[in-house]
Amino acid sequence: MLDIQANEVEWYLRDHFFRQFNQGRQYFKKELLADDMISLYFRYRNSNLQDMNDMITAVVENLISRQVIKKTENNSLELTSRFSRLQCSKCFYISYLNSNEPRNCLRCSSNELHDFPKKR
Ligand SMILES: [Zn+2]
Repeated sequence: MLDIQANEVEWYLRDHFFRQFNQGRQYFKKELLADDMISLYFRYRNSNLQDMNDMITAVVENLISRQVIKKTENNSLELTSRFSRLQCSKCFYISYLNSNEPRNCLRCSSNELHDFPKKR
């Protein structure tokens, strides 16, 4: 698997978690995430379910190690806190950061981030 693909899946997965959390949902089943991604995101509409599952497995492990999500006793995934959607002032990349993570751009590591869209 190419890193760039995994990074992209991670971005979309964070986007998905951000939106779901804001609707009050905090628990997910890992085995259903690939279906969610393929049905929700045009980018992945033609993706192979098994490939998507493999990438999600890798991304989920990474997110667990970053304490963005944790496994519960009944084998669900729980979001540990809400996400902020932030834009980098240097490279304009949008990062979804959990409040347990350092507030740095996920592409260039800059700490010059602002809310996106900007609050008036
Ligand atoms: Zn950046």
